[in-house]
Amino acid sequence: MITPKKLIWHIFPANVLTIFLVIITVSWYGVVSLQEFYLQDTEADLESRAHLISSKVKEYLRDQKSGDLKEYCIQAGRSSGTRITIIDPQGKVLADSNEDPQTMENHSQRVEIAGALAGQVGISRRFSKTLQENMIYVAIPLTNISANVLQENSEKPIDAILRTSVSVAALDTTLRRIKTRIILGSLAVLLLAGAVTLLISRNISRPLEQMTRSAERFAGGDFSLRMLPVVKKTASLEVTTLAASMDRMAELLDEKIEAIVTQRNQLETVFSSMVEAVIAIDTEERVISINDAAAELFGVDKKAAPGKIVQQIVRNVQLQQHISQTLAARESVVDEIVLRSENGDKFLQTNVVILGNGAGENAGVLVVMNDVTKIRRLENVRRDFVANVSHELRTPITSIRGYVETLLDGALDIREDAVGFLEIILHQSERLATIIDDLLALSKIEDEAKRGAIPLAFGPLRPVLEAAAQTCRLQADQAGIALAIDCPEQAMAEMNATLLEQAVVNLLVNAVTYSRQGGEVTVEVVVGQAEQAGKVRIVVRDNGIGIAKEHLPRLFERFYRSDKARSRAHGGSGLGLAIVKHIAEAHDGTVEVKSVEGKGSEFALVMRGELAG
Ligand code: ADP
Repeated sequence: MITPKKLIWHIFPANVLTIFLVIITVSWYGVVSLQEFYLQDTEADLESRAHLISSKVKEYLRDQKSGDLKEYCIQAGRSSGTRITIIDPQGKVLADSNEDPQTMENHSQRVEIAGALAGQVGISRRFSKTLQENMIYVAIPLTNISANVLQENSEKPIDAILRTSVSVAALDTTLRRIKTRIILGSLAVLLLAGAVTLLISRNISRPLEQMTRSAERFAGGDFSLRMLPVVKKTASLEVTTLAASMDRMAELLDEKIEAIVTQRNQLETVFSSMVEAVIAIDTEERVISINDAAAELFGVDKKAAPGKIVQQIVRNVQLQQHISQTLAARESVVDEIVLRSENGDKFLQTNVVILGNGAGENAGVLVVMNDVTKIRRLENVRRDFVANVSHELRTPITSIRGYVETLLDGALDIREDAVGFLEIILHQSERLATIIDDLLALSKIEDEAKRGAIPLAFGPLRPVLEAAAQTCRLQADQAGIALAIDCPEQAMAEMNATLLEQAVVNLLVNAVTYSRQGGEVTVEVVVGQAEQAGKVRIVVRDNGIGIAKEHLPRLFERFYRSDKARSRAHGGSGLGLAIVKHIAEAHDGTVEVKSVEGKGSEFALVMRGELAG
């Protein structure tokens, strides 16, 4: 993969290279042109010089003054800084300004000589072996030297060749100097151009780099930064426009994200604080999210649940089937399931509905569970209560009706029977009255407690207990049972005296009723110390028949009797202890029971109280 380069490395080297190539090309072209110009100029110059001295040379040749010719060549060559050579048409050197013609080889094969022999101006640039230098040679043919002095039978009109030449060493030096200047100048221009390009490149790339950094911060969720003030000073119009657009985009994104986060938090709060247990499940039957109520219901960690298979969370076959069914059939399922647990069964009103995403596609299912355990229990209690009340009322009513019918059928005429029957009717009607009175008392306490209409006041306990004992004393005496109160004078309690007296009477009546002749019943008050400070315990104790262990948990339920026969015999309604419990609760207190079958029972009312003074 090609790693992307920084923008500066895209602009800078390309620009510098272009400038470099332009300079090289222009310089090369300039140098070559200049060189050519110089050479051509030198050639023209050499040709002029040749023409200039040609008449004199012709003269010497015509006069056949070979010595003078040589002398002239040397002098003219020296004064003009030119090498002058005279060659005959066969290539033999006749005179030379720099060398001895005798030592020089035949020149007919030299390019410039050959050119001149052809009747033109011969030009050659080459290395001279004689002088060991780079030279320019220009040769012109000399004609019309009178009567072919040199060569009598010559058919050629050319009589001799005059060659002028100069060394190009000086030219080379000049050119080299010019080249050096051009190179130095080019380098300076290149450096300057490089610096300018670098500046421009950085001017373009720097704001973009700053924008990249800002954009990275945007990508990281930080929208606080604004690009425009950062890039404004140096950047181009395009970049500042882009920066302004990105700032606007960041602002909008910030607002949108904030709105989404707020919305999500609100939803999360609603979702978490919902009383209903909710689990969102995807199409793969994995948990998407679960709220607090559901996590608590199934005893799972709310944070660890997402991503788990729903079967790991919901350990209820019925609910699992509903989820699978809804996912498969895309139809909601409403049902009530029972969740078995160690802490008792839970009744859940469940609603498994299809979960759609925004595009209307199936995203899974949503399970909404409503804990209806309390409602179901209340319904059961109510149902049991109605059944119990009906049963309790029916028994005395059936009895009364039976005896009334017997009386009407003739028993009325037999006086002793009639009196006996009427006594039973009286007893049953009293029982009816007791049940109704107790029911009314119970509902009254319940109702007033609910409305907070039971006034409580601090007062001495002893008078209340004595009043209660007084009520039961006759019954206790008749049963041969001793009744004692053990209560400190200063014991105080926050109470409703009337209701508390009723509760203690109920406990005492029971204690007397369920005791054997000669038994003992005590009412003891214990004022709490240390941890129990601020509490009083009113304990009603007997050494009667006691209660079997299995009855104890349900003893305070309405109409619950552990000893049905004895209860009925003494005309109990089965509501006494339920009333005691409600009175204790109205006092923000509790009632406890301890009992050993055959040995006796102990009921304790615990409520707010202390020792006065
Ligand atoms: P009841 O009118 O039948 O006495 P209660 O609600 O007062 O109704 O008592 C409920 C049942 O609790 C009684 O039927 C009796 O079996 C049992 N019980 C209550 N107090 C005592 C006690 N002190 N000793 C033994 N059994 C008791």
